[in-house]
Amino acid sequence: MKTLVVGANGQIGKQLVGLIQDSGSHTARAMIRKQEQASHFESLGAETAIVDLEGEIEDIAKAAEGVDAIVFTAGSGPNTGADKTLMIDLDGAVKTIKAAEKAGVKRFVMVSSYDTTRQAIQEAPESFAPYVVAKHYADVWLRGTDLDYTIVHPGRLTNEDGTGKVQIAEEVERGDVPREDVAQVLFGVLDDDSTIGKEFQVVSGSTGVKEALSHL
Ligand code: NAP
Repeated sequence: MKTLVVGANGQIGKQLVGLIQDSGSHTARAMIRKQEQASHFESLGAETAIVDLEGEIEDIAKAAEGVDAIVFTAGSGPNTGADKTLMIDLDGAVKTIKAAEKAGVKRFVMVSSYDTTRQAIQEAPESFAPYVVAKHYADVWLRGTDLDYTIVHPGRLTNEDGTGKVQIAEEVERGDVPREDVAQVLFGVLDDDSTIGKEFQVVSGSTGVKEALSHL
């Protein structure tokens, strides 16, 4: 299975590409936005595609040609304003979904945020609300497609070492989760078609990733 990782140079993205390449059974195409980011992925044996999410859908669709799945784990990050939140977290996500349809890639895994409900928008602090709005409508858009989607809602991301143990369900109590474990979950989702059409929250827990996914 070949997977296009959108946001591959990000903290989760890099770990996911590593897991995919280490698996022996899957391969990754890393979608990045700068040529100087390519050597890291080439050294892992992964393909690369250089595309900016603020560009044309056509370019993203080209990057997606011939893959079996797309994981969207890009984000504008906490150091830019609401303008980039709109352009990347919302429009970049929707353009990637449209590119998947254009390229005929059915499997789509979205890294959303912990709570993207309407209530979460209403309750979010003013500075955080645009991000929740962006994630909310990107999720809404994906649910309205015919794609084989899975939407992953991680708790607060940390850079602690992963434990491989998580808690996964439609609703779990708010908590932290290492990015390394989220990457494991995304890899597990790609390998488990029973997750198609589902969405779930994930935080650190006591159940192995494969088993936790199988109980969804
Ligand atoms: P990250 O390290 O900030 O990575 C985001 C990636 O998106 C970067 O590689 C960045 O590229 C890429 N990107 C940004 N703008 C782009 C553009 N115009 N074109 C192409 N790529 C672009 O994020 P992370 O920590 O791995 O998190 C991944 C996801 O988890 C994000 O969607 C985030 O919203 C979500 N999330 C975060 C939390 C949290 O607690 N922080 C909780 C739940 C979910 P460059 O490397 O070139 O900058």
